[in-house]
Amino acid sequence: MTPPRNSTAARDVAYALHPYTDHKAHLEKGPVVISRGKGVRVWDDQGKEYIESVAGLWCAALGFDNERLVQAAANQMRRLPFYHGFTSKSHEPMVDLSEMLIERAPVPMSKVFFANSGSEANDSVIKMLWYMHNAIGKPQKKKIIGRLKGYHGITLAAASVTGLPNNHKLFDLPLPGFFHVSAPHHYHGAKSGESEEDFATRLAQELEDLILREGPETVAAFFAEPVMGAGGVIVPPATYYEKVQAVLKRHDVLFVADEVICGFWRTGNYWGSQTMGIEPDIITCAKALSSSYLPISAVMVNERVFQGIAEGSSSIGTWGHGFTYSGHPVPAAVAIETLKIYDETDIGAHVRRIGPHLQRSLRERFADHPLVGEVRGVGMVAAVELVADRKTRANFEPGRKIGPRLMKLGEDNGVILRGLPGDSIAFSPPLVITEDEVDEMLDRFGRALDELAVQLR
Ligand code: PLP
Repeated sequence: MTPPRNSTAARDVAYALHPYTDHKAHLEKGPVVISRGKGVRVWDDQGKEYIESVAGLWCAALGFDNERLVQAAANQMRRLPFYHGFTSKSHEPMVDLSEMLIERAPVPMSKVFFANSGSEANDSVIKMLWYMHNAIGKPQKKKIIGRLKGYHGITLAAASVTGLPNNHKLFDLPLPGFFHVSAPHHYHGAKSGESEEDFATRLAQELEDLILREGPETVAAFFAEPVMGAGGVIVPPATYYEKVQAVLKRHDVLFVADEVICGFWRTGNYWGSQTMGIEPDIITCAKALSSSYLPISAVMVNERVFQGIAEGSSSIGTWGHGFTYSGHPVPAAVAIETLKIYDETDIGAHVRRIGPHLQRSLRERFADHPLVGEVRGVGMVAAVELVADRKTRANFEPGRKIGPRLMKLGEDNGVILRGLPGDSIAFSPPLVITEDEVDEMLDRFGRALDELAVQLR
């Protein structure tokens, strides 16, 4: 249906260049215009209500109407709407938030650097690693290892660590010096009869082989989301991180934990690193840091990394890195309030109550569905993977666009779904979701899935 001239939808098609969109298809079908939100729900400009099954982009952890966050922003706007951190300038929100993050870190961390997005945080880490290794007299130690299906953002270096084809194709990425090892996905990656532990051993060996082939003196860091998000919500097999960390330690390769999705209770602990037994050297976080009410991300570095950066900056006279909006006081104030709300409302206890209900219900209701190959997840993040053949575990032909079709059926049934590569549907609702709302979300998803099954018959 053609939207009326001058409607928001028509002007969108006329003027907006959307992130992550097939632009030609968009010219044909136009946008879904979301105009307001409350709790775990949003409404479009036609008044239709949806449950947001992924909290926007895995991020609006406190739902869509938290008044305390609105007040925190307004108060800070009135007091000091902007200041920066360049050349030793500072302000209270930046200091308070840095202190709160260091206090909450899963392992001892030394300093916090702020950026505006997860991509910028990860890009900043790569620049830190290159800079510090030059500064400490190891100029060869620059290579970065990520994982296939890993997602770390879209700026040049972050996209190079990302292991998803759509972030590389036509972009001339990855840049030289970036490598990818296999995704720790037992369902697809394991050989017939291979146990989780044996699969983990094989993947750790693959990592070690790569490091040895390139030369350990040339490899700076390994990036991992504790639980992979955008690549399909992949929970690694038992013993995986234990074995991977042993390899990294042996070759003095730093561990960067990308906590952009997992941070702030998503997996049932404050950090995904705690859920997965990771002791990172560097942590990046964003999204739930401010419940995404304003853009802010953070990089936490340990003392060793900080000393390397400090060394370089004193020899040059400055660390030539930082964004105008690094530590911007308004998003920082919102993030401080967000972290206080997590503490005061004991959101962790809530996640530990609702998360198991979500995981159990997904498995009980969908694991045996004829279109479903695997249901996986931990805490409040999960995925349902659709397969063309449950025996061979083969996915559908990409041309059949199964994910997008299910997303559309979801919208018709009042649930916004997120399709991931490989026809996996993600669930990462606002952390504040109740048990009844989980049930309602899954009722709507179930109707969409059944309608898809009828279409495919
Ligand atoms: N890292 C992870 C794990 C993410 O999930 C994302 C975004 O989804 C990013 C990094 C990039 O964050 P941003 O989109 O804010 O640049």
